[in-house]
Amino acid sequence: MPLRDIRGHRRLTDLLARSIERGALPPASIFAGQTGVGKRATAIAVAQALNCTGSGFQVPGSGFDACGSCKSCDRIARDVHPDVLIVEPGDSGNIKLRRTPGDNAGFVIEEVIERIGFKPFEGKRRVVIVDEADAMVLQAQNALLKTLEEPPPSSIFILVTARPDSLLPTVRSRCIRLWFAAGGTSDVDADARAVAERVLTRAAGSEAIPARLDAAKDLLSNTGRGGASDREQLSGYLHAMASLLRDAEIVATGADRRALANPDSQAVLDRLAGAYRGERGVRAFAAVDQGLVALERNAGVKVVADWVALQL
Ligand SMILES: [Zn+2]
Repeated sequence: MPLRDIRGHRRLTDLLARSIERGALPPASIFAGQTGVGKRATAIAVAQALNCTGSGFQVPGSGFDACGSCKSCDRIARDVHPDVLIVEPGDSGNIKLRRTPGDNAGFVIEEVIERIGFKPFEGKRRVVIVDEADAMVLQAQNALLKTLEEPPPSSIFILVTARPDSLLPTVRSRCIRLWFAAGGTSDVDADARAVAERVLTRAAGSEAIPARLDAAKDLLSNTGRGGASDREQLSGYLHAMASLLRDAEIVATGADRRALANPDSQAVLDRLAGAYRGERGVRAFAAVDQGLVALERNAGVKVVADWVALQL
């Protein structure tokens, strides 16, 4: 799942996309926040953006994001990319320094340190993601600390944890901490995709301007909070539309469906693929993208919604 499809952390994912574009990603960061909030998925998306061999994807604010469908993106998603190491607790519940006989751990820290001594095998950057990093035993943390003090230039470390304060202060001090808030002013609420599906389906069904403008009403409405909230909500809908249009293109061209960002919406995608294949799909995608850029530049929410609905 690329950065643009991560739900609820738009500011963080935009920041990361911009940092990646500028080559300014910190060598070591802590992704902190409650369990299940999307930290690990974001870390994997960062690894994809750093190693994407497709044409990539420009996001609003001029950041760089992964294409989500090239061989490299696919291998990272399936955790079989040789340069993206995901470390997580083994059967013992701990992340150890050394492998012990019979231990079922994926990677232990000693192996990670050995691997990063080499240049990336095929990717551009090596990314080490330590999930549940607070499960590292003290020896593992101390060994990793030495690496964090002098990180190899081609490597990026992301420590994912719900309990950052359980990490050694020396480890914490080497990392930039990004906080993933739960249930805050989410940019995409749970209904965003349903709304996006509805608007795309209605626009596909009619070229008539009044019908299009009526569909646009779906994109506005209902936060009731006005101002920034309406803007964030529309941004969420547009991101969901972009994601669906990208998937519709995958379905229309018969590409590998494993690359779908919305694999549970097959029936909708089949319908949308019929309507938004080829040039129309490209035009719709570009309109949604321009809508997002306009929103970033403070264009009026209603103006953007109407304009996008008319272009689809
Ligand atoms: Zn890619």
